[in-house]
Amino acid sequence: AKAAGRDQVVSYDTQLRTRHLAQARMVDRLRDALEHDQLSVFYQPVVDLASDRWVTVEALARWETEEWSVSPDQFIPAAEDSGLIVSLGTFVLRQACRDAVVWHREHGTRLAVNVSVHQLREPDFANTIRSALTDSGLPPRALSLEITESVLVGAGTQRAQVIAHLTELREAGVLVAIDDFGTGFSSLAYLQTLPIDTIKIDRAFVPYGEAYDRRQFALVRAIVQLARGLRLGTVVEGVETPQQARILRLLGCDLGQGYYYSKPVPAAEISASLEFA
Ligand code: C2E
Ligand code: CA
Ligand code: CA
Ligand code: CA
Repeated sequence: AKAAGRDQVVSYDTQLRTRHLAQARMVDRLRDALEHDQLSVFYQPVVDLASDRWVTVEALARWETEEWSVSPDQFIPAAEDSGLIVSLGTFVLRQACRDAVVWHREHGTRLAVNVSVHQLREPDFANTIRSALTDSGLPPRALSLEITESVLVGAGTQRAQVIAHLTELREAGVLVAIDDFGTGFSSLAYLQTLPIDTIKIDRAFVPYGEAYDRRQFALVRAIVQLARGLRLGTVVEGVETPQQARILRLLGCDLGQGYYYSKPVPAAEISASLEFA
């Protein structure tokens, strides 16, 4: 039994080492991909649950070719750990602003971009956003930054930097959304101080299946009430069926996003859909 125990320890250790090596290789390949323009940006519509109109598109990073692809759930954490997320984020931001400028001009569609806490802690973050807007011609009002509760961890000076950036950008007209709401470990106290416009309700709260789920309904309703009281908009993620869209609208959510409306698609498909809508 003792020997087996030690084997298990060794194999756990080996697994960890293998994972570290895999991660290190992934980071090298990701750095290479960024340098050689091998990343792309897909877009997923965010839809008005009452009218089915596309009001926003969310930019999502993609790393794929005809032969293979790496999921964002793998390469985004690797990018966060290595710091590459800062240049990856700037790439996505600039590409997305260029793609979205026509959609906004012709259809009023807004753009949502995910922003990592590492980007928000960079001293020139607000400048990076401002120059992406100026260079593309996208008006500040057309851009929404999606941040997560992780911006609240870390030292007070780091938090102050993040809040200063967000405050400055909001004064310029940029919108801020709190992403994956309710899945972090922070208290709700931050809602008093963090400058935000929208709450994105995580898909973990979306009622699934045929069963009438009282608890999920109660949670979504409470989040919607909270958002209303704070004068914040709501977006709900992971809408996969027309039944879910109907229920979420009845529960008071403003906007929805999910496979029922569209998967994330390349820019050309967004252009075509907006054209023929
Ligand atoms: P997220 O910001 O919560 O993005 C929504 C994710 O849910 C996307 O996964 C999207 O494809 C997926 N999704 C959308 N509708 C549905 C649905 O109806 N059902 C289900 N099961 N899933 C749905 P994706 O594209 O794999 O991205 C995963 C995460 O990676 C994102 O989660 C975001 O946290 C991160 N990410 C992606 N692109 C970027 C980026 O440019 N910068 C940063 N910082 N993070 C990014
Ligand atoms: Ca997001
Ligand atoms: Ca989300
Ligand atoms: Ca989520």
